[in-house]
Amino acid sequence: MKVLLIQPAPPFPSFGDALPFGLASIASFLRKERMDVALVDLGKESLPSDFVPNVVGIGASTPYSKNAVFCSKKVKKLFPHAKIVFGGPHFTAIPENAFPYADAVIRGDGELAMLDICYNGISERVVNGTPIENLDDIPLPDKDLLDCIYKGRKTRLHIVGARGCPFDCVFCAEHSKAVRYHSVDYFIENLRVLAQRYHNDIFISDDIFTLNKERAAEICGKIIRMQLGLRLRVFGHINCFDKDLLLLMKQAGVHTISYGIESGNNNILRLINKKFTVDETRRVVRETLETGINVDCLYMIGNVSETEETVADTVAFALQASKERWCSFAIPFPGTKFYEVAEQYGTILTKDWDKYTNQNIAYVPYGLTKRYMRRARDTIVGGADRSLLAKIRRRLRF
Ligand code: SF4
Repeated sequence: MKVLLIQPAPPFPSFGDALPFGLASIASFLRKERMDVALVDLGKESLPSDFVPNVVGIGASTPYSKNAVFCSKKVKKLFPHAKIVFGGPHFTAIPENAFPYADAVIRGDGELAMLDICYNGISERVVNGTPIENLDDIPLPDKDLLDCIYKGRKTRLHIVGARGCPFDCVFCAEHSKAVRYHSVDYFIENLRVLAQRYHNDIFISDDIFTLNKERAAEICGKIIRMQLGLRLRVFGHINCFDKDLLLLMKQAGVHTISYGIESGNNNILRLINKKFTVDETRRVVRETLETGINVDCLYMIGNVSETEETVADTVAFALQASKERWCSFAIPFPGTKFYEVAEQYGTILTKDWDKYTNQNIAYVPYGLTKRYMRRARDTIVGGADRSLLAKIRRRLRF
């Protein structure tokens, strides 16, 4: 059985690259079952001419979904006998977008469902993927898979050691509330291989590295004892702060922690279900900085019910909290609670999925304008808009 797994090209060249972890994981899992599997990233290379697959898997998030359809048409011409299976967050949320281009869609985790399709063929057009309980059942990726993900990447080799998040932010399409982890030994081996084969600048992309404090401490302890010499970034969460853990993380090479802060206004934080307040955020950012770890604050402009006043609170907070910061526009991605209510509270400007990137405005809540959203975003990320700043300063008297 030959299986070709395809990461579609990004919607436009400057989009950045989404690393095909999910597909690489499916590839490793199928290889364990002696399938002949190839992985190709169409952002970097072309479809192979010397590998004729029986099954083709194409994975896509929303901005990649149009290119997924585009490449499935090419695949159909090149390999008319191959079965085409779509997966990934976009088709999990809107499986009907996959047809008539796909023979089947897998929603959620793809490993076991792809294996079943390879062994038994397609029996249902929309398959709900069964999650793998023990993530270590997925072998570490072979060298060719690693190269497909990381080759040529000068900074930030992303790595994932967990799946799922217990929180429920309204703009997020993460639905797996039960968090599953790779074992510490598996994860450490993955880190060691990456550092040895490429370089030591690694971003641990687990949704919240500090969620399981004992596990995070064990990982850091091993990194220190093994003297891996890593430069690490992680995602934290305001509600999962522990100063002793952060001090240990610092020793293990963590130089920056990113917090999804989103807003400087308590009402918006409540509406988007962040489960923390502005005061709690302020304290956690300050105490994190005291450990010597940089804080990368992530903000979001344009959620449901935002007004110029709530956005001004966010800008004011952002300018005071930490120098390292990023700001995106709120996008009602399919599969989120935000997507379900967006039209009641604002204007969806487009359903062109190529434009669903968080640096593009696809949604404007009734209390805002596109112009104000841009000015606010630019002010947060550094291109300060003087008149907006003056207005905010007057309003907040700082
Ligand atoms: S945004 Fe982050 S914290 Fe919120 S649900 Fe998604 S992964 Fe969890």
